[in-house]
Amino acid sequence: MNELVKQDSPLSVSDVKGQIQVIQHVMREAMVKGTHFGIIPGCGDKPTLLKPGAEKLCLTFRLSPTYKVEKTDLPNGHREYDVLCTLTHIPSDKVFGQGVGLCSTMESKFRYRKAERKCPACSNTSIIKGKKEYGGGWLCFAKKGGCGAKFKDGDKSIEDQDVGRSENPDLADSYNTILKMAKKRAHVDAVITALAASDIFAQDLEDLTPSEDPYAKYQDLINLIKESISTEDYYSGSKAWFESSDDTKTHLWVAPTKGGPFTTEECKVIKSTAWREAYYGKTSDVGDGMQYENL
Ligand SMILES: [Zn+2]
Repeated sequence: MNELVKQDSPLSVSDVKGQIQVIQHVMREAMVKGTHFGIIPGCGDKPTLLKPGAEKLCLTFRLSPTYKVEKTDLPNGHREYDVLCTLTHIPSDKVFGQGVGLCSTMESKFRYRKAERKCPACSNTSIIKGKKEYGGGWLCFAKKGGCGAKFKDGDKSIEDQDVGRSENPDLADSYNTILKMAKKRAHVDAVITALAASDIFAQDLEDLTPSEDPYAKYQDLINLIKESISTEDYYSGSKAWFESSDDTKTHLWVAPTKGGPFTTEECKVIKSTAWREAYYGKTSDVGDGMQYENL
């Protein structure tokens, strides 16, 4: 950590505000791109402050967050969390600044899910794509509770099924995730606002749809995968990933240094056995047949 930060005399609240050079120093010396802050392709050069980065800045400036959570139950099982994050300057015990964050199951990545393919033989939703080197086609996967039936590529009883998006019937499964997201958004908002750091960090970029963003049309998928990785709940993300077309996966499999949508850490997870097993179960003889080159 740098000496500006390590000095013993605590900075006063007014000292801390506008300490842009300290923030820039911390970014250079103690933050990692893709972990503490990210660059979203097509959104200009301003980095987005990520949760670990906000935590690092709080540590640097001796700020402690507290949260006030408001829950609103909406019709049809939907829920919204409204979070107010208050940052207290630990040395002076003064309230330093506040930020707000909101997250709701009405957001498309929680509201909808892709319908699952049903096995024409046993009616279970345990159909997976067969691995190319085992002849491709479709398999009613025993480890997902299926009957083991196999179907050829082009089989209409499988491929004509409607797998478009439908309302997610299991909204309650997302309540904890949206609470975490609302808290994260409030925390990041509080740090940027309180440190007067909006010149350095962009805010709410996830809500923008930049015209030149090559990943704009995959944003829901990318968000779902990122959320799944950050909450270590791999099933939803790996399911979305492995059920995407090879074209989509190839399109998204771009190194972070080349503006790809996933961080180095996220790419590691997507290549990992744990990720594959979250969807296919513990087995070595299935997979999506993709060649994941090192990024
Ligand atoms: Zn079956």
